[in-house]
Amino acid sequence: MSTHPKSKKRRRWIDITFIFTILTLSSLMIFLLMLLNPAKKEKVVVSANFPTVPKEQINESDSAYPGIRIITETSNDKKTPYAIQFPQSNVPEFNDIVKAYTNNIKTLYLNETNYLTESNMYRKGELNISFEVFQHTTGYYSFVIHSYMNTGGTDGLSETRIFRLHNQSGHMLTINDLLANNEKALIKLATIVREYIISDEQLNSHLLQKQFTEKTMPTWDNYSNFSLKKDSIEFYYDEYEITAGPAISPIVSIPLEDLNDIIADNFKLPEVTIQPSPTTSVKEEEKPSGEIQTEDTTVNPSTKLVALTFDDGPNPESTTLILDTLKKYNAKATFFMLGSRVSFYPEIVKEMKEAGHELGNHTWNHLDLTKASSEKIALEINNTSDAIEQATGSKPTVFRPPYGAVNSKVRDQTSLPVVLWDVDTLDWKYRNANHLLAHVKNHVKEGSIILMHDIHMSTAEGLDEVLAYLQGEGYSFVTVSELKSSNAN
Ligand code: ZN
Repeated sequence: MSTHPKSKKRRRWIDITFIFTILTLSSLMIFLLMLLNPAKKEKVVVSANFPTVPKEQINESDSAYPGIRIITETSNDKKTPYAIQFPQSNVPEFNDIVKAYTNNIKTLYLNETNYLTESNMYRKGELNISFEVFQHTTGYYSFVIHSYMNTGGTDGLSETRIFRLHNQSGHMLTINDLLANNEKALIKLATIVREYIISDEQLNSHLLQKQFTEKTMPTWDNYSNFSLKKDSIEFYYDEYEITAGPAISPIVSIPLEDLNDIIADNFKLPEVTIQPSPTTSVKEEEKPSGEIQTEDTTVNPSTKLVALTFDDGPNPESTTLILDTLKKYNAKATFFMLGSRVSFYPEIVKEMKEAGHELGNHTWNHLDLTKASSEKIALEINNTSDAIEQATGSKPTVFRPPYGAVNSKVRDQTSLPVVLWDVDTLDWKYRNANHLLAHVKNHVKEGSIILMHDIHMSTAEGLDEVLAYLQGEGYSFVTVSELKSSNAN
């Protein structure tokens, strides 16, 4: 196809005009968008993956605490950088509350620092949000979220807020729960907190009298910002909330011991719970009320033996229920525990040992040990043994590597016998009580070692039927070591 030279020239002229118009229009649009930017920025905050914030990174990782993930949001923007970390759990309601809290701070920060992005000043903002986790023996986590914000001025602003959660039940603990909603208990708590602050030389000398009086009055609201630790309750005060000067954001730590008569029963320390007299306690152990008792408690060599094993615990609700069910059938089992969890729930481990179950080591962090260094393997195993010993006074007697992954390098790091299994109930996969029974029925044989996980409620709930069935089939339930020694005989 040929074209006239003149019309070609005209065509080029049209092209140039067209391109110029497009360019002008698009720069106008960009300019308009920039004008609207402040409004848009707020939206950016809410939607985490908004593409116009290229410097922002969001990251999710597991924590050392079971069921808790850490969300990390960072931006290395020159003027408005931030680093935010907050926890997320299995409980959506809790997750929303925590996310909204950190998002609010972030929004505020980005709004307040917006002027920096438009100026040529050398100043820049700073936002840091991080958290600590504490756990009480009841399983309650306290997430202590610290934030520090500087919007480009000389002084920054810091704040500490605590969020409490029972990850299994989803319950978010309040001060009302802790004090069983008792006004008198609240007044007593207020008195204890005041006494603590006044008797602390450092705090007392920097007290803002009016604020102190107001903030320690016995109102539920005044005592709502607390963390529940293993043996203390801590109240956090922000800057200038009650003090000034060097003791700027004090933490008031009250031993639970001192609160034992005012806190709700389930938080009381074990020593103070009323023990039944020795005679009734023995009687109760022999014959739990309303429970069917099996006659023969000793292992009869003519009966078929089976070893029940429970991995990955302990866990407050499910392990406790399993212990109850085992007791009902006079069954002994072996628990392969994670050191990280033992350190959270030493009470349950103690109970386990006292009930005559065998204590097993399942490493601290549930790593595939065949991929770890010898040093790491030894640490994983030894720390767990130590935690079990600390909880019960006894070392574990058997070891099960996570995933059953074992090689000579792993075996070299422990003198404990390595115990695997022959019946895998796959309870973690099906999470179904009926499936548990069906699976055991199909696979169990004399001398079987059955693998279950005591961290699942479905396993705990399905166990009764499994034990009823196996007992009906003439099985006795022994620990792994008892099973091995009976095989050796
Ligand atoms: Zn495991």
